Amino acid sequence: MSSTSIPQPPFGLLLDVDGPIASPVTRHVDTPSIAEDISRMANAGIPVAFNTGRSLDFIADRVIPPLVAAGLGEHARVYSIGEKGAVWAPITPEGHRGSPQIDPEISLPTTFVAQMRELTATEYAGRIFFDETKYTMVSLEMVPGIPFDDYFAAQATIDHQALDRLRKLGLGVTLVGDSDYPDAHGEIQVRIEPTVISTDIELVHTGKALGARRALDAFATSGPLPAVWYTAGDSPSDYAMADWLHAHDYQVTHLDVRPRGPVPEKPYRVITHPGVFDDASAAILLHDLATGLGVH
Ligand SMILES: [Mg+2]
Repeated sequence: MSSTSIPQPPFGLLLDVDGPIASPVTRHVDTPSIAEDISRMANAGIPVAFNTGRSLDFIADRVIPPLVAAGLGEHARVYSIGEKGAVWAPITPEGHRGSPQIDPEISLPTTFVAQMRELTATEYAGRIFFDETKYTMVSLEMVPGIPFDDYFAAQATIDHQALDRLRKLGLGVTLVGDSDYPDAHGEIQVRIEPTVISTDIELVHTGKALGARRALDAFATSGPLPAVWYTAGDSPSDYAMADWLHAHDYQVTHLDVRPRGPVPEKPYRVITHPGVFDDASAAILLHDLATGLGVH
């Protein structure tokens, strides 16, 4: 199909996964209307990208099956952008098409990756595991079911071991919530980011803004780009998607589905649904958009 035969879509969607799409509690897509509305919009020509720090395997396991069950079509322009912009693949009714594309510029030193894998298998066995589905970043995950206090103690220790090893390799590191440790030139290359259930270790230029750029580059290969975008997320870092789109002269509206916290002042529209919880408020936005498009 030539891209000139595809009309410009009225808008596009960039969606964080954990929070707006998958329940932060069950980690599954629990609200049926979410998959139904996304599939209908995608089938109507709306470009949709899932922009997440998760692996592509997670999207394949948790997000694609409900989309396919809801009738996602062959010609939908839907992409997975994983590992904060470093890995990506188109979504089809058969799953991801082909092997994932991986940014060759984004990788951590192999000696460091091996050291962290070794630590999780020995000192931290039963408390922290190494996410083998990631290609470009290191994710040290809480073993499900262990007490949070045990995990947090182990996490604090392994995060500092990771910091020490990266610094010994001459890298500048930021340990989020702690401090910056620049290299000999005053530069920072790596971010260690502890979250409630994992620590992510990644290059500092990866993130939701890189994911947004990657999504638009991918969409540009399959047809015209919309001028209007909607983004959704449950973390402050998700605003980087909307920031990037705004900075590149797109009209953007961000849906902030954080359960709490102040809404920042932004030069674009931010919407919230007070009193409505994360995946439910995303469901409202997606339903409104699908309804506005006349696909209901
Ligand atoms: Mg999230």
